[in-house]
Amino acid sequence: MNDHDGGRVRPAPGRVEVVAGPMFAGKSEELLRRVRRARLAGQGVVVVNHALDVRSGGGQVASHSGLAIPSATATDAEQIRALVTPGTDLVAIDEAQFFGAGLVDAVLALADDGLTVVVAGLCITFDGQPFEPLPALMAVAETVVKLTAVCAVCGRDAAYHVRLAPGTADARTAVAAHVGGAESYQARCRAHRITRR
Ligand SMILES: [Zn+2]
Repeated sequence: MNDHDGGRVRPAPGRVEVVAGPMFAGKSEELLRRVRRARLAGQGVVVVNHALDVRSGGGQVASHSGLAIPSATATDAEQIRALVTPGTDLVAIDEAQFFGAGLVDAVLALADDGLTVVVAGLCITFDGQPFEPLPALMAVAETVVKLTAVCAVCGRDAAYHVRLAPGTADARTAVAAHVGGAESYQARCRAHRITRR
């Protein structure tokens, strides 16, 4: 770890904070809450989103509840490092699942430089499998918050989401093929994550 970066003395070491969960769990909202708190504390904050997140039209991190903060856009993990300036104390990365396995080393390098890195993203795929690199990031983080959504069928805590066929919200029509945008996904509890019958 370095105590200096561009002549600026940092408290060492940094830390990694992960906010994980399925879709509709409020991950971006929690990320933005931490960004606002850091800015209130006078910290230099860089917010990064992946170019593949077209939910908000690009250039910002937006939550499903309508909150939004302008962000830098990156297409791979290596670009994130270049967005950090000497005045940066905290890096907030949304939609981390889009950055792939290279994000783990990039995040660890930032933390070793004394930065706080907040990483939010999907830790589960629509077909119920661990979604890297979030599981790996959860393993090396100082703190992990696992958020749940609300099951669209029964209202219980939902740790999963499923992809639905176009034009329907029927639990029996969850499909494996990619068919569209966020409107074709639903949060589901353990009992309703797999369609039977
Ligand atoms: Zn349910």
